[in-house]
Amino acid sequence: MEDCIFCKIIKGEIPSEKVWEDDNILAFKDINPAAPIHILVIPKKHIPTLMDLKPEDNELISKIMQTIKQIAKEQGFAENGFRLIANCGPDSGQEVMHIHFHVLAGKKMGPKMIG
Ligand code: 5GP
Ligand code: ZN
Repeated sequence: MEDCIFCKIIKGEIPSEKVWEDDNILAFKDINPAAPIHILVIPKKHIPTLMDLKPEDNELISKIMQTIKQIAKEQGFAENGFRLIANCGPDSGQEVMHIHFHVLAGKKMGPKMIG
């Protein structure tokens, strides 16, 4: 998608600090981290929101979850744990319309964010 920031990051048109890349998935550091470790994990396929996921995307989402596990091991926060957030649509405050999973780690986190 031409006007999508994350598609531009995938194409290398916008620089990013990558922590993982394979044929289908990219993970990179969030530009405005909300925790000592804040990684965004995205599919290379442009899918605007979680509501646009189709049954044929199930394997991709499953691969993203396995990749998050792998990143947690490689980056050293598998033991201490992390928080996984996916915003969807206006009420969540989703800003970038290309699905992404926020992986937050590196500190003891407070109460669950629910509103
Ligand atoms: P959302 O609010 O859509 O769930 O999260 C979008 C995230 O993308 C935000 O945490 C924001 O800091 C991050 N972000 C936006 N633009 C860029 C960018 O150009 N580079 C990187 N690395 N992160 C970005
Ligand atoms: Zn995109």
